[in-house]
Amino acid sequence: MHRSLWLKDVADDLKPTTPLSGELTCDVTIVGGGFVGLWTALRIRELDPGCSVVILERDVCGGGASGRNGGFVMSWWPKISSLTALCGVDEALRLAQASEANISELGAFCAEHGIDAHFRQSGWLWTATTDVQRGAWNGVQSLCARLGRDVFKTVAPDELARRSGSPKHLEGAIEASNATVQPARLVRGLRRVAIRSGVTIFENTPVLRFERSVPARLGTPAGCVTARRVVLAHNAWAAEIPDLRRTILPVTSTIIATEPIPERLKAIGWTGGESITDSQLMVDYYRTTRDGRIAFGKGTGMISFSSRIGPRYDQDEALNRVTEADFRATYPHLADVRIEHSWSGPVDRSYDSLPVFGHLPNAPHIVYGVGWSGNGVGPSRLGGRILASLALGVEDEWSRCGLVNRKVKLFPPEPVRYLGGIMVRSAVRRKEAAEADNRKPAWLDSVLSRLAPSGLEDKSA
Ligand SMILES: Cc1cc2nc3c(=O)[nH]c(=O)nc-3n(C[C@H](O)[C@H](O)[C@H](O)COP(=O)(O)OP(=O)(O)OC[C@H]3O[C@@H](n4cnc5c(N)ncnc54)[C@H](O)[C@@H]3O)c2cc1C
Repeated sequence: MHRSLWLKDVADDLKPTTPLSGELTCDVTIVGGGFVGLWTALRIRELDPGCSVVILERDVCGGGASGRNGGFVMSWWPKISSLTALCGVDEALRLAQASEANISELGAFCAEHGIDAHFRQSGWLWTATTDVQRGAWNGVQSLCARLGRDVFKTVAPDELARRSGSPKHLEGAIEASNATVQPARLVRGLRRVAIRSGVTIFENTPVLRFERSVPARLGTPAGCVTARRVVLAHNAWAAEIPDLRRTILPVTSTIIATEPIPERLKAIGWTGGESITDSQLMVDYYRTTRDGRIAFGKGTGMISFSSRIGPRYDQDEALNRVTEADFRATYPHLADVRIEHSWSGPVDRSYDSLPVFGHLPNAPHIVYGVGWSGNGVGPSRLGGRILASLALGVEDEWSRCGLVNRKVKLFPPEPVRYLGGIMVRSAVRRKEAAEADNRKPAWLDSVLSRLAPSGLEDKSA
């Protein structure tokens, strides 16, 4: 199994539990031991300490996206326009504010539980690296201002170039609340806290089938769990479930990491710990690590027929090359720096890039939370609240929140999804390559690009 830099760093802590064998009965079974599954389990135990909770995990906890991501801990403010359109101003504000407060709360949680996740709250620079990207944040910035919230502060170009360590950053704004973590340390820490709180975890235990009977039955290679309630928290893999197949599209995101270069970071000025993105749809996202590396990611957006997640979602040379090329273009003065690690992972894109919560049709006892769309490190903690309330049948602001049972735009059925997806992705790549060279993109590429699902942020045109 190809592992990320983050998971290699915690290799000593990856010893799996014994897989499930035989029959087991519990109150709630959670499929997937990533951030979403673990936060949900913890919240259920908090709301109902008598509730027996079992997590079934195909690999080890954190083996999926949670142990492979960029470690950006973000809010939902960049999606404030979409949230407002979806659930009205008051609920949008409540969710965005909760997602911002959640970032500091996550840091406090790590401190309280002795999780050394390298939590660092140094803000996120949302930048333009080409002319066409300039002011991409203007719409969100002014909507926040109209709502009385001064969230995104403009950063002067010279300060931006200094703090990001590269004059390729032309303009930008900062959302100061954002943080970074070493995500594998966070997810493995959550696993420890969950076990201590009484959650039972079976790793190397894929759910191969489930029956929607009441209670539900979930079959694994050597066992079976009977559960009153089920939470589906298996991210992009949930696209295997026919009812969710058109709600999410599993796409790749790819990260490369340099050798440790603390002295070079000092020399270029990127010492403040800021996380950075550009404003492409196939977004470049990058941050530094505690040992002085740069981890540079790209939304490489590869898709597969029928949304099957194969080995190319773990590691793919072509995707690594594309990602490295963007790193070299953004930091040409680090041309001699070696790349030591590279990996990919699946992202569960929803059409509007906001998560979707609900229960499967005619199965109120089987709930799901998918569609994190590349912003799940922070918001998964709120997702855990939503899923726990849904699973326990608790009526509160989380089970009633605007992201639950919402009407979503669906991806087309196969084979249109795959063939159309390839066409749109190629058009976006050509368009963004032209823009990177300050060339005018082909008309058809611009038209096709508009069919792509929306990105991590609500960008101004
Ligand atoms: C390369 C990359 C970079 C990213 N960067 C960022 C970032 O910087 N900031 C951010 O906020 N978000 C980022 N994301 C997204 C973020 O990682 C996810 O939104 C978040 O980790 C989702 O957590 P999860 O629990 O839903 O998924 P996962 O961590 O993937 O957990 C799902 C688990 O389910 C398991 N599973 C799958 N099928 C089965 C089955 N049949 N039976 C049992 N278990 C099963 C998987 O093994 C997996 O461990 C990134 C994602 C990737 C891939």
